[in-house]
Amino acid sequence: MTTLPDVDPLVARMRPFGTTIFAEMSALAVRTGAVNLGQGFPDSDGPPEMLAAAAEALRTGQNQYPPGPGVPALRAAVAAHQRRFWHLAYDPDAEIVITAGATEAIAASILALCEPGDEVVCFEPYYDSYAASVALAGAVRRPVTLRPDETGRYAFDPAQLRAAFGPRTRLVLLNSPHNPTGKVFTPDELALIAELCQQHDVYAVTDEVYEHLVFTDAASRHLPLAGLPGMRERTLRISSAGKTFSCTGWKIGWVSGPTRLVSAVLRVKQFLTFVNAAPLQPAVAVALGLPDAYFTGFRDDLQRRRDQLVAGLVDAGFDVLSPEGTYFVTADVTALGGRDGVEFCRSLPERCGVVAVPTQVFYDDPEAGRRLVRFAFCKRPEVLTEAVDRLRDLAGQTR
Ligand code: PMP
Ligand code: GLN
Repeated sequence: MTTLPDVDPLVARMRPFGTTIFAEMSALAVRTGAVNLGQGFPDSDGPPEMLAAAAEALRTGQNQYPPGPGVPALRAAVAAHQRRFWHLAYDPDAEIVITAGATEAIAASILALCEPGDEVVCFEPYYDSYAASVALAGAVRRPVTLRPDETGRYAFDPAQLRAAFGPRTRLVLLNSPHNPTGKVFTPDELALIAELCQQHDVYAVTDEVYEHLVFTDAASRHLPLAGLPGMRERTLRISSAGKTFSCTGWKIGWVSGPTRLVSAVLRVKQFLTFVNAAPLQPAVAVALGLPDAYFTGFRDDLQRRRDQLVAGLVDAGFDVLSPEGTYFVTADVTALGGRDGVEFCRSLPERCGVVAVPTQVFYDDPEAGRRLVRFAFCKRPEVLTEAVDRLRDLAGQTR
C-alpha cells in the first residue's frame, strides 16, 4: 500500500484562504457568549407573508428539483422588482437565473467569464468571497483602495482606478452599497467606472445585495451600474433575498443580464449546485412583490439601528465613519488604544463581551485597514444597547 505524502492537499491557489473571518468570529462569539456584531445576519425574521408562503410550499409538494434557471414565479418577480425600483427591464425567461445566494452568482459569473491570468478590477476592502472566486478561476485581482477622505466618506483615487485597467482586464467587480465600508458609489464615480469599462471593452459584475439599504441622508441614492448608458449589455447584476428579507440562511440569489452573459453563467452554475431550495423560491417571489412600504420600512428600521450604534460607538470613544448604507459601520480603534484591528477583535470578546470583524482581512494592502473594525447593526435594539454598554465599560477601563 502506498501512502499519500503528508502535505496540505489543498490546491496552491486556495491555500492563502483560511477559515472565513465570519465563521471564525461567530465561533468566538458562541465560545465566549459575547454579543455578536461580527457576522452580518439579522436576529429577527423577515416578512410573515414570505415565511407563510415557504411553509405552504413545503406542505404542498414543491420539494423536488426546480427548473435550472429557477422557478418561473421567482424569475418573473425578480424582473418585476427590478422594473419597479430601478427601471431596468429583463426578460424573466432568458435574462435571469436564480442562484444559491449572491455568493454562487458571483463565483459562477467569474468562473464563466475569466480565463486563467485574466484580471479583475475590484475595490478594497472587498467582500471575502471575491478574492476566493477570482483565485478559483485562476484570475488575478487588481484592487483599487477605498480610503476615508477629509469629509469622512470612503473614496478612491480616480488615477488608481484608471491605472488598474490594462490589456488583461476582463471585468470589474463592483459592490454598491459597499460591504464593509457602507459606501454608496456616487453617480460621478459610477460614470467613471462605466467609461473605463467601455474604453477597455470589459464586463461588469455588480453585487447589489444591499440595494434597499441606502439611508435617507446618503449623498446619493442607489443607482445600478447596468442603468448607465452602454452598460446594460456588458453587466451582470447580482442580488439576493438574504439581506432585503432578513433570511440570510435561505441562500436565494439571482443574476440578471443580457442573454449571452446570463447563459454563460448558467452553464457554469448548473455544475456547481444545479439548482437550490425549491420551496423557498416561490416564497421569495411573494416577498419581492410586497408593497413599497415594506422596503421603506425595512430601510428606516435599519437606519434607526445605524443611528443607535453609531451614537453608542462615538460615546464609547471610537472614531466612527457613519455609513450611507448596508448593515455595517466601520470604526478606528486607535482612540481606544488599539494598534491592530485583528488583535483588537481577537481580544474584544474576553475584554468586554463583544464581537466585531477586523476589516484589514478584506484588503490586499492590510496597512490601509490596519486599525479599522466593522460592527454590524442588523440586530435588535436591546442587543445593540447591551453591546454599547459593554464597549463603554471597555473605554472606561482603557482611559
Ligand atoms: N455580497 C456581499 C457584499 C455580502 O455582504 C454578502 C453577504 N450577504 C454576499 C454577497 C453574499 O450573499 P448571499 O448570502 O446571498 O450569498
Ligand atoms: N455577508 C455577511 C457579512 O459580511 C456574512 C457572510 C458570510 O458569513 N459568509 O458579514
